[in-house]
Amino acid sequence: MTLRKTSVIGFPRIGKNRELKFASEKFFKGEISEEELKKIASELRLYGWKKQQEAGITFIPSNDFSFYDNLLDTAFLLNVIPDRYKQLGISDLETYFAVAHGYQGIKGDVKALPMKKWFNTNYHYIVPSIDDQTQIKLTNIPKPLFEYNEAKAAGIQTIPSLIGIYTFLHLSNYTGVKKAEDFVDDAIKAYTQLAEQLHAAGAKWLSIAEPALVFDINEREKSLFKKIYVSLIEKIHATGLKVSLQTYFGDVRDVYADLIALNFDGIGLDFIEGKKSIELLKSGFPKNTLLFAGIVNGKNIWRSEYEKKNALLNEIGKYVDPQNIIISTSCSLLHVPYTVDSENVLPDCFKRHLAFAEEKIQELNDIANQDKTKHEQNKALFAEERIKKNPAVQQALNKLSEADFKRSPERDDRKKIQKNVFKLPSYPTTTIGSFPQTADVRSNRAAYKKGNISIEQYREFNRKKISECIALQEHLGLDVLVHGEFERNDMVEYFGNNLDGFIFTQNAWVQSYGTRCVKPPVIWEDVHRSAPITVEWSVFAQSRTNKPVKGMLTGPVTILNWSFPREDVSLKEQTQQIGLAIRDEVLDLEKNGIKIIQIDEAALREKLPLRKSDWHSEYLDWAIPAFRLVHAKVKPETQIHTHMCYSEFGDIIKDIDAMDADVITFEASRSDLKLLDAIKETNFRTQVGPGVYDIHSPRVPSVEEIIDTLHKITAKIDKENVWVNPDCGLKTRGEEETTASLKNLVEAAAKLRKE
Ligand code: GLN
Ligand code: ZN
Repeated sequence: MTLRKTSVIGFPRIGKNRELKFASEKFFKGEISEEELKKIASELRLYGWKKQQEAGITFIPSNDFSFYDNLLDTAFLLNVIPDRYKQLGISDLETYFAVAHGYQGIKGDVKALPMKKWFNTNYHYIVPSIDDQTQIKLTNIPKPLFEYNEAKAAGIQTIPSLIGIYTFLHLSNYTGVKKAEDFVDDAIKAYTQLAEQLHAAGAKWLSIAEPALVFDINEREKSLFKKIYVSLIEKIHATGLKVSLQTYFGDVRDVYADLIALNFDGIGLDFIEGKKSIELLKSGFPKNTLLFAGIVNGKNIWRSEYEKKNALLNEIGKYVDPQNIIISTSCSLLHVPYTVDSENVLPDCFKRHLAFAEEKIQELNDIANQDKTKHEQNKALFAEERIKKNPAVQQALNKLSEADFKRSPERDDRKKIQKNVFKLPSYPTTTIGSFPQTADVRSNRAAYKKGNISIEQYREFNRKKISECIALQEHLGLDVLVHGEFERNDMVEYFGNNLDGFIFTQNAWVQSYGTRCVKPPVIWEDVHRSAPITVEWSVFAQSRTNKPVKGMLTGPVTILNWSFPREDVSLKEQTQQIGLAIRDEVLDLEKNGIKIIQIDEAALREKLPLRKSDWHSEYLDWAIPAFRLVHAKVKPETQIHTHMCYSEFGDIIKDIDAMDADVITFEASRSDLKLLDAIKETNFRTQVGPGVYDIHSPRVPSVEEIIDTLHKITAKIDKENVWVNPDCGLKTRGEEETTASLKNLVEAAAKLRKE
């Protein structure tokens, strides 16, 4: 067997113990200097490179590190930084963070740029903002060069990896009249200069990632792509560098013919999510080009089945010279945790089925080397039988009928009934659920988990927090209250913890936005609820006030999307299983006197296929009904709320309305309320609470600012349907800024009522 070469698209960067997160937070608090932060970053990069070197990876990427986000890095690389940030006159790194977080201090007051979901992942990027004055040019000390040199100095030859011009321009926001096409020449110039510098520093290859090629692509976009690469490839070649084009998160059916006609030295295709990648190969692949074959899943956490991978490689080998096939991950390993080795609690019967980043690079090596013992071991692992079916769950699924998915009466009738029940003022104020998770809240949970305090002590503390939280909300004058979610670490992990069928990791953190991470539970077998989960807290909270307190649940689609799903059962079925479990909880809350229940679907959009043509058939047709399944059986007077993060749902607005909730709250403050037009045009019937301020930033919005936002909202939406709320949960915020912001929010609503 020939020894094959291997490649990795990107490696996790947060640190095995989230060192980057903790260091960044210390830096923001002024506890460590910029130099100290940079030193920690450098150690994290070296750790990743060394691991890959040890695993024998042939093509090790550099420039996959980021202090916040790689697209933001690219914007800084190209000088795409709005003037208002530059004018703050703070250090480059601080300016960078100002764009990501917003800045409020002695140097000025600016909001952060909007954030969006990165393709079909739970990672988010900062949307670059381009205006007519934007001058694309290469920065002075380009990050890719710096990091290439750093690896080289450590004795590691890397491939600098860049986000490509097409993807960068495609994902940017244009605030003037100029369009993507107007910036191509300058961008090519910048990339060429960078290629020159990298070549001079000793680099051999440049890897350019163009994931935006997996979307549906129209003619205009296709010519933009060609315009960029016809010229750029030639210029990069002139520097002496080889260049590969890396794609991921799907197949590139719309541009494949153009892509293989271009003179790339390597092409990276995704054989996991790229349904048509094999078919595309059949249409031809250039003879002397390397194929970076993404066959090890960069998103799941399951071991690869070597026999299947070999079969896939053989299939690929029919169309591509096996000598030219490089075994690669399907996407960056950013989307999986570091290593299963960090799991000291999880029993081995589970652990041996898992592969995180460090195991995956080992798998690449095993597959490349065809090591016999490893392959035998792998075969034995996949021959193991895992018990996963729960008869009660299967029976409940079989019994589902249309009536389980339809609530009655109709929403407009319910609205009248609910109006009488709740008698809320116009512009009712509420929050999204969580209140600041202060150190005492976290240590109470931790102490209980470690067995240092009794369950009664743990509960007592939470009851005290809930009482204080209710008192604070009453004092502030909010209309619909929440209990504060002090018992939860995370909106998905908490439910996973309390449902059967999930397993949990201790350290399997994955980056979500900036240096914030989530620790998704793993769906191991059929999901089932054996006892009430939240009822105790909601009932207690409601007992402290005469105002309505919202029951607070996470919806089935979000629980699925923020877990690592199993792969032997369809996503649809897994979602229905979760839906049935959450339905039991909804009905129990209702039975216990909770009159408003919020079912968060923060991650509804997450698994929306990247190609529009697949949206309904592959996703929405089961995801939206799964939400209705959860609330279809409640009484007409029970008010169902839902919440979504990131308001990018203009294009699925009909489906959002079809969730049939009574009220939806969503993020709108960063994205400048664009969604309102869609709400108006489509005659959206769900009542809406477009977030009036950004909770991802510590900035306190002024009353005037909130009123201004509310005016924009009421200009588009019938005021009868408008709720006033922040744009997401408050758990990551400090107490002081939260109280100040909510006080202004309530005051703004009160002023508006008088107008
Ligand atoms: N209810 C959750 C909270 O307030 C919602 C979080 C979210 O949307 N991400 O924290
Ligand atoms: Zn949210």
